[in-house]
Amino acid sequence: MVKPAVIVPEDQPLTLANLPPGRPQKRLALAVALAFLGVLLVSAGEFSNVQLGRVDAFVPAYATAIIVNDLITAVLLFNQFAIFRSRALLAISTGYLFTAFMVIPWVLTFPGVFSPGGLLGAGLQSTNWLYVLRYAAFPTFVIAYTLLKDADRPKRLWESAVGTTILSSVAISAVIVCAVTILVTAGDAYLPRISIDPVHFSSLWLYLAGCLILWNAVALILLWMRQRSVLDLWLMVVVCSYAIEIYLVSFPGLARFSAGWYAGRTFGFVSSILVLFVLLHEIATLYARLLSAVLAQRREREARLMTGDAVSASIVHEVKQPLTGIIASANAGLNWLDRVEPELDNARNALRRVVSIGHRTSAMIEDIRAHFKADARTRISLDIDNIILEALAVVRDKLQTSGIIVQLQLGERLPRIMGERIQLQQVLVNLITNAIESMAATSGKRMLSIKSEVHTSGYVMVSVEDTGSGLEAGAADRIFSPMFTTKTDGMGMGLSICRTIIEAHEGRLWATARDRGAIFHFTVPVDSGVSS
Ligand code: ADP
Repeated sequence: MVKPAVIVPEDQPLTLANLPPGRPQKRLALAVALAFLGVLLVSAGEFSNVQLGRVDAFVPAYATAIIVNDLITAVLLFNQFAIFRSRALLAISTGYLFTAFMVIPWVLTFPGVFSPGGLLGAGLQSTNWLYVLRYAAFPTFVIAYTLLKDADRPKRLWESAVGTTILSSVAISAVIVCAVTILVTAGDAYLPRISIDPVHFSSLWLYLAGCLILWNAVALILLWMRQRSVLDLWLMVVVCSYAIEIYLVSFPGLARFSAGWYAGRTFGFVSSILVLFVLLHEIATLYARLLSAVLAQRREREARLMTGDAVSASIVHEVKQPLTGIIASANAGLNWLDRVEPELDNARNALRRVVSIGHRTSAMIEDIRAHFKADARTRISLDIDNIILEALAVVRDKLQTSGIIVQLQLGERLPRIMGERIQLQQVLVNLITNAIESMAATSGKRMLSIKSEVHTSGYVMVSVEDTGSGLEAGAADRIFSPMFTTKTDGMGMGLSICRTIIEAHEGRLWATARDRGAIFHFTVPVDSGVSS
């Protein structure tokens, strides 16, 4: 059975930024947000005040993981920008890139990671201020994304070259991060004090963390109000996770290396990787959808081929063979006439053959034309065995010159079938010609067996079996595709036309491979109005 093609409407959104989230995605996002809240409630309990020991590998491991996650997310989003060219997407991808870059000076200046006071000659305050700036920057980019999203609508296309734009945002982000790092580390002594010592925070930190959480809340509310796409949905989850991480890192212990601080960091990492996975999954789903749209288009094109250009291809295919017969008979006629004593009877016979083949070809061309017309053909009651014999007569010369033995197993008392004589003859001639060509390429016994029998009730089955080269592994279905051929001079239209004809007769045409050679079977419905 032919599967209906998956038709993807042209205006269907195909990027994360404009694809509306489905119900399962909304449910998943809600479940993730609720799980985050659950983690918050559990982690914000008494135990999070407990001061734990310092694990030296923790901060660099956390920083590396966050950098990798954010960079991959940035690349995915820049990719979306390259497709969709929206300023909003540029803002959010730059946001991810910027926050990934900001982790680098943060980890370098973190006291005790690379040197007791932190690298880059930083003082006690630099790490915290870099953290504040990073966590303030992300919601700012999200807000920019949210506001630009609608502004993009009337003028969606980005005029400048995509590559230059992406490179510029990478360069600008890197320059800003370097400048901020230099300013913060050089001005460390003048910065308001967030840390009292390498472990404990001052109360200023609580106000700053509170502001950061509020800023994330603003981003969340804006996203909520303007949410439309899968990306919006998951950015809301990300903003929530940022707020929860800031809370856990700051409030419970007001100190580094408290249980809450560790929980916050771990939470930040897990949520960032989770969101990345979801984005990757969404992209893979979109890719699969695109692929099926492309395949559907290809199938549609092939189907069109069968009705439009294929008419001419079919005519060429069908006419080639009788033309060869006409030329051969005409040459034979000339030879009989060119003799010293012309053999008029033989010449006349040759010319009669030319006339007969000409008539048959003309009927065939008319038939092809009618075959591609939308209206159903008039079918009549036929004896399939007669059609087999007629088809064999057409290819008799070829069978003889190729040294092929023909074995016929025609069913006794076979019911009559309903069909179109020329079309069914055309199918059989095609199958037999393919069998002859396949056997011509092999040595050994060449045997063509044709069998007719009653198939499942209501059908007659004809099988054409050869001892030729056989079918390539897995090719049994491919060979019916238009234009599929393994012959240097083949057109690959024969079997495809045969299948169309048989299917138009409400029958089936298929091939099976044998140890040596191939068998082609087709079924046609019996004429239910006539008893055998
Ligand atoms: P064409 O004859 O122009 O190649 P067809 O549609 O008739 O186009 O056949 C398509 C392909 O199917 C052939 O090129 C050949 O590879 C394969 N094929 C068809 N019939 C046979 C057969 N009897 N034995 C082996 N291969 C076959």
